[in-house]
Amino acid sequence: MDSVLIRYHEIALKKGNRPYFTELLKRNLIAALQDLGVKEIRSLPARLLVTFNNTIDQQTAVSRIRSVFGVANFSLVEKTPRDLDAIESQVLKALNGLSFSSFRIETQRGDKSFHLTSPEINRQLGACVKEHSGARVDLSKPELTINVEILPKDAFFGFDKIPGAGGLPVGASGRVVSLISGGIDSPVAAYRMMQRGCRLIFVHFHSAPYLDKTSQEKVRLLVATLTRHQYLSRLYLVPFGEIQRQIVAAVARPLRVVLYRRMMLRIAEALARADKAQALVTGESLGQVASQTLENMAVIQQAATLPILRPLVGMDKQEIIDQARRIGTFDTSSIPDQDCCQLFVPKHPATKARFADIEQDESKFAVNELVRYGVENAIAEEFTFPPQTA
Ligand code: ATP
Ligand code: MG
Repeated sequence: MDSVLIRYHEIALKKGNRPYFTELLKRNLIAALQDLGVKEIRSLPARLLVTFNNTIDQQTAVSRIRSVFGVANFSLVEKTPRDLDAIESQVLKALNGLSFSSFRIETQRGDKSFHLTSPEINRQLGACVKEHSGARVDLSKPELTINVEILPKDAFFGFDKIPGAGGLPVGASGRVVSLISGGIDSPVAAYRMMQRGCRLIFVHFHSAPYLDKTSQEKVRLLVATLTRHQYLSRLYLVPFGEIQRQIVAAVARPLRVVLYRRMMLRIAEALARADKAQALVTGESLGQVASQTLENMAVIQQAATLPILRPLVGMDKQEIIDQARRIGTFDTSSIPDQDCCQLFVPKHPATKARFADIEQDESKFAVNELVRYGVENAIAEEFTFPPQTA
């Protein structure tokens, strides 16, 4: 098997957007496979065909493609001439050594001018495989599915379809800024927006030197994991301890968490505008903690003018944890750290912040100056995937 056939959902696409969509998908596939020697990616009806310059490490190719959003499913395939005898002999050769007791053939004709119909190919090839393998045909639950694709110039076959990551290609929905904390929720929120086609820029607020650097190390690991899906990421590390210190010096405890959050949003928004991003993403989930009541969300949100996307807002903690495990962020997120929002805050923060009280508190410290301080002292780091070896 020397090529990969990628299938994407066409239904999700308006007709006019399709070339743009496939172009992005191609570009992302090239990025994901860049170190494996991609020779060409050909557009076929509802499919892309990836060929390589050399034999590939199949496991690596499969794991890379599984992370590319916009792929519905894919198969490792082998090229054959457009001739049933040739297809039969190559399929039999490839089946050599595989053990299976039942199978089915699934043919797609990308070229309807081929002299046999799909059912005819299924029948003839099926009879041949049955005779040589002794396996029976099972159309509903076969152990092995043999996929055949007839194209205008050549044909391909492969075994089994591997499920893809679904969604839309990263880049198709624009750029957004993800507020990432090192906790369980925000990396899942980031993943979900990436799956909807957003390219993410990450912002993390840390309280060093007042708290240790664990949260920064965790966020670097999390961003590296998420970069598997977008190949190039920028992470801004914003020093927040000094800002918190000034807030603490100026206002009493109850509203501090809400005030911190509003400052985070303002700084994230300034960074977003500088990078031409169109929205902010948080890992908030309604009612999960005291700061995430509707009242508090409303008051926090008013500090920003860009839309705030909260992809987890209606999810249960357990659902979020399950997804964190699936996407490979849970273990890193579970490393104990000192969350910057726990710094100088009451055990029971206000759950119903009132806008008038917030305004009054914010008149006691230099909001704009502190936002500028955060933006100017943000340190940008870049992450790439696959890791550069040269
Ligand atoms: P998470 O699991 O993502 O930390 P959480 O359940 O702990 O979320 P909060 O602490 O209320 O919830 O934070 C809500 C959201 O605010 C986070 O999901 C994240 O998007 C953002 N946020 C909180 N702390 C930080 C931080 N230090 N840096 C960047 N964003 C943060
Ligand atoms: Mg948290």
